[in-house]
Amino acid sequence: MNGNCHFMFAGAVSAGVAVNLDNFINLGLQIEHTPATVTLLVMGGLLGGIAPDMDNPRSHVGQLTKPVSTLIGRVGKFFGKKGFDHRWILHDPLLHSAGLILSYLYFPPMLGFFLGTLSHLFLDAFNPKGIPVFFGAWNIRLGGIPSESKGAVVLTWVFTILVILISYLAAGDCFGLWEMLKIWLF
Ligand SMILES: [Zn+2]
Repeated sequence: MNGNCHFMFAGAVSAGVAVNLDNFINLGLQIEHTPATVTLLVMGGLLGGIAPDMDNPRSHVGQLTKPVSTLIGRVGKFFGKKGFDHRWILHDPLLHSAGLILSYLYFPPMLGFFLGTLSHLFLDAFNPKGIPVFFGAWNIRLGGIPSESKGAVVLTWVFTILVILISYLAAGDCFGLWEMLKIWLF
């Protein structure tokens, strides 16, 4: 998916988690519900949503962070990364899952960032190339939709709307949507 798709979907996911923070705390997660937590979740999520493409110097974020992305590209090549657009370690879900867990345990301000990166990998898994797991030992591929296609945009919208709907319903009293549905359903 392109940078815009990742940005939009990561924003929906991180905002969805932010409006449901109390629900996660009720489930037993040890997170402080402060305005700073909410801001860091959303801002970190947006940044994380585009960060994995830093391993591709030709992507939007790769262009923005040129010296770093070129260096990552060179190091990747040394370790067997083929071509500029071939996905490498920054697209490995194990690395980002470990980042999420470590952030939760030791440095919660980074939680939003890793939520964003994982949302990026989720969308990329629908590309024909999929995403590499454990330095490319396996590959997760959930679809065959090219990044720059109309299908990629449609898929991103579908997932984004789904995340927004589920988040508002889970958050309960947001706009009274859940209350309204409860009256209809029961
Ligand atoms: Zn990517």
